Amino acid sequence: MADVYANLIGGEWVASTTASRNINPSDLSDVVGEYAQADAAQTAAAIDAAAAAFPAWAAASPQRRSDILDAAGSAILARKDELGRLLSREEGKTLPEGVGEVTRAGQIFKYFAGEALRLSGERLDSTRPGVDVDITREPLGVIGLITPWNFPSAIPAWKIAPALAYGNTVVMKPADAVPGSSWALAEILVQAGVPAGVFNLVMGRGSVVGEAIVSSPKINAISFTGSVATGRRIGARAFETGKKFQLEMGGKNPLVVLDDADLAIAVGAALNGAFFSTGQRCTASSRFIVTEGIHDRFVAALAEKMAALTVDHALKPGTDIGPVVSQDQLEQDLRYIAIAKDEGARLVAGGERLTRETDGYYLSPALFADTANSMRINREEVFGPVASVIRVRDYDEALAVANDTEFGLSSGICTSSLKHATHFKRHAQAGMVMVNLPTAGVDPHAPFGGRKGSSYGAREQGAYARDFYTTIKTSYVFGG
Ligand code: NAP
Repeated sequence: MADVYANLIGGEWVASTTASRNINPSDLSDVVGEYAQADAAQTAAAIDAAAAAFPAWAAASPQRRSDILDAAGSAILARKDELGRLLSREEGKTLPEGVGEVTRAGQIFKYFAGEALRLSGERLDSTRPGVDVDITREPLGVIGLITPWNFPSAIPAWKIAPALAYGNTVVMKPADAVPGSSWALAEILVQAGVPAGVFNLVMGRGSVVGEAIVSSPKINAISFTGSVATGRRIGARAFETGKKFQLEMGGKNPLVVLDDADLAIAVGAALNGAFFSTGQRCTASSRFIVTEGIHDRFVAALAEKMAALTVDHALKPGTDIGPVVSQDQLEQDLRYIAIAKDEGARLVAGGERLTRETDGYYLSPALFADTANSMRINREEVFGPVASVIRVRDYDEALAVANDTEFGLSSGICTSSLKHATHFKRHAQAGMVMVNLPTAGVDPHAPFGGRKGSSYGAREQGAYARDFYTTIKTSYVFGG
């Protein structure tokens, strides 16, 4: 039997009685590795180790925490080509996308190495003479991190780095489909000098490992990214057990295209936003809301660009779009393509299962036109390379349609009108607004997150991450 990548519990690499095969979605005969599947008892041991390590790590000098995060960031960046390849093998995004994501993970560790040294408080004059009021931030304790499969390196990085920077200890469960990138991060953290128990990795199913983390009274907070259904369940359980929690969930992100848009910019933003990374981004554009004067030109130009995209093995030079991540996701994408056709949407391009030299989950990116915002294809998250066009009269209708959704993650507009861009920026009901840019693609030092059904709790990334990973203490001191 091949070597099995073990869990990291209390500084030891610990095997499990079962393991899962990490399969390359570009080539189902390629086994990326065998990864341990932790059980509830091992998860409990990891939580105990994190709790035991917390007091010393919380008291460690910020310089020490900074040095470890900086070393981890340097190691990730030094290994970006190898780790990018691993990421593309296990998740299916193209090699440039994989290397780009790993680079971002390294930069996030570097950023939070700096933030560890910048945690500041505030001092107020009291209303009472001789009394000082100090506002300080403290770590929360043991944080449970639960991550999805679509960003196997960056999402773990943007949760682990701030958690550790501000003095918390961590128990992390990566998505079962992509444990390899998280295992590599764990190895790098150990090599960077993270003390035993400060970071623990427990791999396995959400129903076993995830449930054990969310239910444990020793976990103080949960940071979750994934689907709405799982997020809501986890939020309810976290609330019942008295934990702080943040949930980053799905999207149904609109891209408005107005008559006065630069057509090349609009088509470029649409192509990138909807189909790159195989459309498997929470910020992906899935609804193009297009005014009448540009509608036909936009649809024709986008379909032409889509026809020129190469869908193939993620590691092959020249591939624009890799495979869908799994059989389940492929079936979901095909199901929604069938639903859209049944609802009367017109398939303009793609939407077909493709065969390639290697057996993988290949799907040509799909574009539907003549859709209504009430159709399921426009209301439910597909999470694949599938987008639709909704024709509208004018800007006012476009804004109303853009906001007519239960989600609120990212919202975009392509226009050369300052008036409409400014109005949209103010009135789009989303956590992030993009003007003449794809809805996907964000900076790691800026706050990330949504509103409405997409998100719950504090923002991730940038200095705003401290609002989740620390708790505030207000001290009143009378010196006599
Ligand atoms: P998912 O099915 O909700 O899974 C997310 C994580 O939760 C996985 O690690 C999963 O484990 C775990 N999990 C499942 N059931 C659980 C339970 N009962 N208790 C605790 N943990 C449990 O989501 P996904 O399919 O991996 O990811 C796709 C979704 O993520 C999409 O909806 C996408 O929009 C969203 N997403 C959102 C953002 C954002 O920032 N807003 C970013 C990226 C992705 P398993 O591995 O066993 O399933």
